[in-house]
Amino acid sequence: MSEHEILARVPTGLFIGGGWRAAEDAASLDVEDPATGAVLASVASATPGDGRRALDAAVAAQAGWAATAPRARAELLRTAFELLTARTEEFALLMTLEMGKPLAQARGEVAYGAEFLRWFSEEAVRVDGRWATSPDGATRLLTMRQPVGPVLMITPWNFPLAMGTRKIGPAVAAGCTMVVKPASQTPLTMLALAGLFAEAGLPPGVLNVVPTARTAAVMAPLVGDPRLRKLTFTGSTPIGKHLVRQSADRLLRVSMELGGNAPFVVFADADLDAAVEGAMLAKMRNMGEACTAANRFLVQEPVAEEFVARFAARMAAERVGRGTQDGVTVGPLIDATQRGKVAQLVADAVAGGAEVVTGGSALGGAGYFYEPTVLAGVRPDAALMREEIFGPVAPVTAFADEEEALRLANDTEYGLAAYIFTRDLARTVRVSEALEFGMVGVNQGIVSNPAAPFGGVKQSGFGREGGPEGIDEYLSVKYVGIAL
Ligand code: NAP
Repeated sequence: MSEHEILARVPTGLFIGGGWRAAEDAASLDVEDPATGAVLASVASATPGDGRRALDAAVAAQAGWAATAPRARAELLRTAFELLTARTEEFALLMTLEMGKPLAQARGEVAYGAEFLRWFSEEAVRVDGRWATSPDGATRLLTMRQPVGPVLMITPWNFPLAMGTRKIGPAVAAGCTMVVKPASQTPLTMLALAGLFAEAGLPPGVLNVVPTARTAAVMAPLVGDPRLRKLTFTGSTPIGKHLVRQSADRLLRVSMELGGNAPFVVFADADLDAAVEGAMLAKMRNMGEACTAANRFLVQEPVAEEFVARFAARMAAERVGRGTQDGVTVGPLIDATQRGKVAQLVADAVAGGAEVVTGGSALGGAGYFYEPTVLAGVRPDAALMREEIFGPVAPVTAFADEEEALRLANDTEYGLAAYIFTRDLARTVRVSEALEFGMVGVNQGIVSNPAAPFGGVKQSGFGREGGPEGIDEYLSVKYVGIAL
């Protein structure tokens, strides 16, 4: 399907109660192609009233959906998985257009995003409880897990599909209804997904999607609405903190998938080929615009020079361009602000004494392109070692021993993902245990897996998505004490 055809077919309304509608004041928001700056489409921009109507629909559908047989919910997710997989090319192209990632990576996201639908279709029929005898023998304790109720889901632009399916899959499986607010920069994929779910047979009101340019004004009343039972957010740490504060008044149940500052630690005993391969994946997936992106490369002194040379050669060979073009491996950054932030972080590191081994500049012309960049000799106190870079820039710092590596790796307020490369088993165990992160990749540059609990500690948030744990976020535990 061509770009033109796909954009002509993508829904652009609000999806509320199973139907498409314009915003009540007919407002819209433009979706831009970050590779060209051109407007791709205009979608309805919800008002606070539209947001309330979406929640009305979710509330109205809740009891019926919770009462649906688990097998029916499972089959529906399975159908959605199959439809999505069959339409990989369509969804991949849509994502590349609105977000910028190269087509091959967008196809990878469709596969990854679809897997959450399959995984949770399998989990839907395994929501069980416990039966126990109280210690004094006088009571029987029945424990059950029930759907938490209507959920508000707020998602970011960097993975327009998978950050949605990671929440929608378990919520559908658990018997929850939902209102989804996709990022303003990438609403098209989520709107297309809503259409796909309707086709798969999801009853009206279970899933509602409300893009909006008036984000704070539409979200605040929903977070404060006593009918809402859960908020799940993926995005930046400052907005996450703001939402936790807002939700505190009602003690709303919340899950927070926030920012990261992943260390990528290469020990001298590592397989250097695997480490360079892993570095490319951990850094360059999504042009570095991933919460799990390696943000700080810590390399043991004896192999630091060789690692930098090999990594820089690979980075210099990347092909930057519009994600739809054959052979392109690095797309644009999401917007001018993000590119400006990356350029500023690099300038600051260089002013602090870092050496530019390759790259180091924004590219001219249309779109928000930045060169794949490796910086050596970066001081641990440089701003880009403390903040999420969210771009194709790899700062490398050398360390002397395991103790120093751990101290540097843990020296961050974030705690999402960490990567280590070593062939020493005892060290693998020691370092994995000592890393203050929710996820550790050992000899691999990727930690995302639908069967594993994705999530962080410290200022990277709380809650887990994926794995057997993922459905717990959408279930409440109830116990019934039965006297004999
Ligand atoms: P963001 O600015 O925090 O936005 C995320 C979402 O929050 C968007 O839908 C945004 O809507 C919405 N939002 C903004 N202000 C809001 C408010 N006052 N009330 C309610 N919602 C509000 O983050 P981003 O720049 O899109 O995404 C990048 C960040 O996400 C990075 O920090 C990254 O690390 C993090 N991330 C984390 C994970 C994880 O699983 N831990 C995964 C992916 C990304 P608008 O688009 O309308 O502003």
